[in-house]
Amino acid sequence: MHNSDKIKLSDSIRMASKPFLIAGPCSVESPAQVMETALALSETNQVDVLRGGVWKPRTRPDSFEGIGEQALPWLIAAGNAINKPVIVEVANAKHVDAALKHGIHQLWVGARTTVNPFAVQEIADALKGVEIPVMIKNPINPDLMLWVGAIERFQKAGIDDITAIHRGFSVYNHPKYRNIPNWEIPIGLKEIFEDLPLLCDPSHIVGRRDGIAAVAQKAMDLNFDGLMIESHVNPEQALSDKQQQLTPKDLGLIFSNLRKRKQVVSKDELLQLEIMRDKIAQLDDQIIHAISYRMGLAEEIGDFKRDNDITILQQDHWKKVIAHRLEQSSQVNLSQTFMRCLMDAIHQESIRRQTKVMNPFLETGENQKKSAE
Ligand code: PEP
Ligand code: MN
Repeated sequence: MHNSDKIKLSDSIRMASKPFLIAGPCSVESPAQVMETALALSETNQVDVLRGGVWKPRTRPDSFEGIGEQALPWLIAAGNAINKPVIVEVANAKHVDAALKHGIHQLWVGARTTVNPFAVQEIADALKGVEIPVMIKNPINPDLMLWVGAIERFQKAGIDDITAIHRGFSVYNHPKYRNIPNWEIPIGLKEIFEDLPLLCDPSHIVGRRDGIAAVAQKAMDLNFDGLMIESHVNPEQALSDKQQQLTPKDLGLIFSNLRKRKQVVSKDELLQLEIMRDKIAQLDDQIIHAISYRMGLAEEIGDFKRDNDITILQQDHWKKVIAHRLEQSSQVNLSQTFMRCLMDAIHQESIRRQTKVMNPFLETGENQKKSAE
């Protein structure tokens, strides 16, 4: 048994000198498909765990929903052939029982399950007293606390070998991503659970083969501990997620071309970093003082608007301000998206300050919240 070792999987993922790699098909389709995929993956010498879904949470009811329990021995046989542990997705207590009965080594909870606290609790309860590594994907909606809550439910059930997987967040018709990464959410998770290993699943973020390498690299640059990537011997024939599955060979190439970044820096590197960080801190100071001064001016305008009964928002003026700044963004090498976010944030705060000045006797939501605390 692979999980009989005393060292927890989550600790070994965090401690490993190479990024951890879980690879395998989206779905286990046949004994031959999973065996051939496993053998080809093994040749890359990079894979740590073989993945395969047997219960597939599909969006539409007429899609392939997985083989079910019958496919678990096929996955295990493929793992044994390459001497690697296997991981499967579980979405309810029945899945947990079947996976444990067949001796599956690790379990993951999918995005469509993490979103539902009832389902998460059911799985956590089914695992009480069981020693098995569990990986928890983010919920489909960009709600950090829902992800945190799912992890807490497993911790409370006594599961102490937990790893998180970032697979992006649902979005309607995005030109680039199947699920937008919202990197600030996994970064926020690491702030809450410092020692929790974090993997990235670029396959479900991108949804297409091209672009997987770039997202995998970004995860490395952000100090993720590893990756979960879908791979199929014959992606064109895959019964699920065929646009995003890589051949084992392509996966091996992408993985070995990744630049591995380090956290620890040498004294000399630290010195150079500090010089640059000092410059940035000085600039941040200037920016913050300028914004503070700007908000003071907004309040002066608020006084004037109040005394003359003029509305805070002057639609035409705001339209012109935004158009001008968006046009300026390329000249100053800032993206339009960033410029828009920055101006919106400044404008929101400016409106808030003017509202206060214009309605000194009106109770604002903010004050109510304060007094409720
Ligand atoms: C999967 O890994 O095949 C899967 C269904 O993932 P997610 O839960 O991220 O959609
Ligand atoms: Mn998939």
